[in-house]
Amino acid sequence: MTTDELIALSDKYIMPTYKRFPIVLVRGAGARVWDSNGKEYLDFVAGIAVCSLGHSHPKVVEAIKKQVEILTHVSNLYHIEPQILYAQKLMENSFANKAFFCNSGAEANEAAIKLARKYAYENMGKGKYELITMKDSFHGRTMATVTATGQTKFQVGFAPLLEGFKHVPFDDISALSNAITDKTCGVMLEPIQGEGGVRIPDDKYLSRVRKICDEKGILMILDEVQVGMARTGTLFAYEHYNVEPDIVTLAKAVGNGFPIGVMMATDRVASAFQPGSHASTFGGNPLAMAAALATLETIMKDGILENVRKVGAYFTKRLHELKDRSSIIKEIRGRGLIIGIEISIDGSSIVNACMDRGLLMNCTGGSVLRFVPPLTITEKDVDAAVAILGEVIADK
Ligand SMILES: *Cc1c(COP(=O)(O)O)cnc(C)c1O
Repeated sequence: MTTDELIALSDKYIMPTYKRFPIVLVRGAGARVWDSNGKEYLDFVAGIAVCSLGHSHPKVVEAIKKQVEILTHVSNLYHIEPQILYAQKLMENSFANKAFFCNSGAEANEAAIKLARKYAYENMGKGKYELITMKDSFHGRTMATVTATGQTKFQVGFAPLLEGFKHVPFDDISALSNAITDKTCGVMLEPIQGEGGVRIPDDKYLSRVRKICDEKGILMILDEVQVGMARTGTLFAYEHYNVEPDIVTLAKAVGNGFPIGVMMATDRVASAFQPGSHASTFGGNPLAMAAALATLETIMKDGILENVRKVGAYFTKRLHELKDRSSIIKEIRGRGLIIGIEISIDGSSIVNACMDRGLLMNCTGGSVLRFVPPLTITEKDVDAAVAILGEVIADK
């Protein structure tokens, strides 16, 4: 089939929930993907921070191939060996003591919301169910997570939303403190707002949130769906801020493209979930967990964290050089290999022009160019991307 025929069928048969670029990606390797016409792209989207080890990483491919031949799926009615091994490795490398597995970021956050409510119900007394979340946040598209999300554009048309959520400005400690009432059971936030435009809070913000949560006896829930799993240069973003949250959610990069969600918590909080409290048919199945284990082992062993810090710093430096020569770049924000460039014009023309020249990136909130490339990229890849971006920006 030709590309045009494929796109016509896509329009005919698939609900138009995404505004798609007019290309069909058919193959990937490392930081590169190819479309159905054979054109090559440098992929600085990586499935939106998903393929962190690059496309078709050999260790993940091998683990999936091996596991699919042994055992693909059994129910959580039984113990699952790859799930146990992955949980052990994840818990040993995080603040948490226990994990719950599901299949997406929204589902992980849904689980976190349910665990927080259940914990409050059992430990905090009656009527404490309210969660405070942040304006401009993004937590997913299920009813609970779209309610938690602090952006009305995702909520219009879906009323009535869920009860028990309140939004306050991000990176504003007094707004948070003032919003806490005797109904509040927790605070849920992203350490860095990804979809909200790569917004990085003050270095002390998260530790102040932790302090308020301790003083008020409420839970601190971090949504690390986008920034967890090495994206910022540490395995988890909270490590930069010297805090230990009560609950953390993960998803995007966990399986390097295999769909997996994780919700993890301390023993104290996790004890609110008992047999029957919550479940997921596919959650933590053998195939998914084999992919997750290979991904985590590779992140821990193969110098990925060092690469994120080194190449992230190099990328940021190169972008600042670009900024010095450009009038449309207002600000560069980032940590490790999640980097946003705030520009003074609409970003879509830049994204399209870069795509034409073989560089994929995306734009959040209209005017923030977001780069979430594979964590395995080299300085040479960065040079290639910056050269394309520089040419495109020079035309504006
Ligand atoms: C992508 C994202 C989600 C939603 O994940 P899905 O897998 O699309 O449900 C939730 N929170 C954050 C911070 C995200 O970036």
